[in-house]
Amino acid sequence: MNLSSVENVLVEKRKELTRRVESVDRDFRSGWDPDSSERAVEMENEPVLTELRREASEELLQIEQALERLRKGEYGVCVTCGNEINHDRLNAVPYAVECINCAN
Ligand SMILES: [Zn+2]
Repeated sequence: MNLSSVENVLVEKRKELTRRVESVDRDFRSGWDPDSSERAVEMENEPVLTELRREASEELLQIEQALERLRKGEYGVCVTCGNEINHDRLNAVPYAVECINCAN
């Protein structure tokens, strides 16, 4: 497994999530743009938007932890059982900290 490409994926994902969180925050601060059909949908779904922000924040935290573990050389090792995390799983969820057995 190429760790530097994993790091790139994580850093990119972090950027994307940071942008998402910032845009939700902006919407909450400045109110809603009535000209945007997208915003109109979001307004009906404010609880969903709040949930999205929460999820993005949690994902961000997990990415930070994954990057930290990458720096410490602990990346790809299950935090619960200490076994290696399956590479297919890491490809699907690059910030996974538990193997599929422990996560289930
Ligand atoms: Zn495990």
